Amino acid sequence: MNKDYKTLADRKNEYLAYEGTEVITWCGGCGNYGIQKALERALVLEGIKPKNTLFCYDIGCHGNGSDKIGDKTVYTLHGLHGRVIPVAGGAAVANSNIKVIAEGGDGGTMSEGVNHLVHAVRSDYPMVFILHNNENYGLTTGQASACTRQGRPMNGSPDGVISPPMNCCDFALGLNPSFVARTFSGDVKHMTDILRAALRHNGFAFVEIMQVCPTYNRATPQEWYLERINYLKTTPKTIEAARKACADLDQKISVGILYQDKKMPNYLERLVNRQGVKTTSVEEVGRVDIKGLLKQFE
Ligand code: SF4
Repeated sequence: MNKDYKTLADRKNEYLAYEGTEVITWCGGCGNYGIQKALERALVLEGIKPKNTLFCYDIGCHGNGSDKIGDKTVYTLHGLHGRVIPVAGGAAVANSNIKVIAEGGDGGTMSEGVNHLVHAVRSDYPMVFILHNNENYGLTTGQASACTRQGRPMNGSPDGVISPPMNCCDFALGLNPSFVARTFSGDVKHMTDILRAALRHNGFAFVEIMQVCPTYNRATPQEWYLERINYLKTTPKTIEAARKACADLDQKISVGILYQDKKMPNYLERLVNRQGVKTTSVEEVGRVDIKGLLKQFE
């Protein structure tokens, strides 16, 4: 048995601290179950305590995880559709003592909130972002997203999707990222390893999870992915090589760390007015009398 998994069994109480108590509402066979387990395992194996985390969820099926992960032990935020990244990024910059993990679906992330993704990647906020790519808007009953495959009939587009799907990792790689990875919801071990690397990363860790959705995306079930998943043995050294590795979404879908720049300073490290400051912005919040300031405008 893998050494880390033995350790996990010995740390049952730490693992249980990340378990929620609410009723699970995801469909049977949904990829969200495996993703949630992998994330919990990664956090325990990295020694990250629940009280030192903030989980931010977008709107979507994945967002129902907000009341299922350690609902009595961790901080969670369930925000507006497509807007999870700026909120999570702000929290990460304001309080570097906590590990911020944001999650979003392919609908909210690649359409409504794609502008936020652009600036989070190029700014390199110190946080983890997990993209649940189930290739549709599952929560609203299976409409096409920017990631739905061309020609596929969906609710709202019964004659088939007209445009080709976005390649999310390729998109992120075009924004000078510091960390881009792809994994698959049918392999908890691989997801755990990728999420552990993302949690250790210094800047914005973009993790795309190819997620099965047996209810509305029946064309690409677990078996379809298992026949096509290609495990990268090494991390490509350049962005060009990473783009080449992640290009195929049909026959040979590469998973692994596609690109990592461990030396890139993150957003907080580049903020001039925070250089040499020992406290976080959160610790500096206090009451200030602004009566004097307002007098200038009387
Ligand atoms: Fe999961 Fe799809 Fe059901 Fe949503 S609709 S809970 S993504 S299986």
